[in-house]
Formats: sequence, structure tokens, C-alpha cells
Amino acid sequence: MLANYGYRDGAGEFFITIDTGACDGCGLCVPACPGGVLEVGEDEHDPLRDEPVATVREEQRRRLQYACGGCKGARERPPLPCVAVCPRDAIRHSW
Ligand code: SF4
Ligand code: SF4
Repeated sequence: MLANYGYRDGAGEFFITIDTGACDGCGLCVPACPGGVLEVGEDEHDPLRDEPVATVREEQRRRLQYACGGCKGARERPPLPCVAVCPRDAIRHSW
């Protein structure tokens, strides 16, 4: 499934989507993320799942625009470390 984490406010929509069907919990995205946004743990949407899965840390879900700001240039956007490192193409950003 597509697990969406984030919020919308007057500035826009700020969601990170994890494709939990594609993610195998390898954990490569966690140390690659300079904002401390991602972690790997239990699948909160599927408690019966045995494998861990990537999620957005609870305390970051309401402040993603700021947490990810360092990775996103004002004009040109460089490749995002989380997206670039993921071998399963499981991470998407809405902004
Ligand atoms: S954009 Fe940067 S800070 Fe945001 S989740 Fe990806 S690697 Fe982490
Ligand atoms: S790098 Fe990709 S496959 Fe590995 S835990 Fe992160 S989102 Fe899942």
C-alpha cells in the first residue's frame, strides 16, 4: 500500500509516500537522510506484517517542509538522498 505521512497548510502539501509493498526494510534510507526524517520499524498500517518497513518519524510528520528543507534547493532540486539511495524506488515526495 501507499502510506502517506505529512500535512497540508497554507504553503502547500507536504507528504512523503512510502510504497510499503516495494519497501523491504533494508534501512539504507535512514543513515542517508540528513534531516532525521526516516526510520525503519513495524508497519503501523499492517501489524501482521513480519518485515520491518520504512516510515516517517512521528515527530517529523507535522514539520516535513522544514525537516527536508536542507535537501531541496530553492530553485534547482538536487537528487534527494532518500530517493537516490532506495534500491526499491519506494519513496516519493509530494513537493
Ligand atoms: S528529502 Fe532529505 S531530509 Fe527529507 S526524507 Fe529525503 S533525505 Fe531525509
Ligand atoms: S531504502 Fe527503500 S527499500 Fe530500503 S528501507 Fe528505505 S524505503 Fe525501504
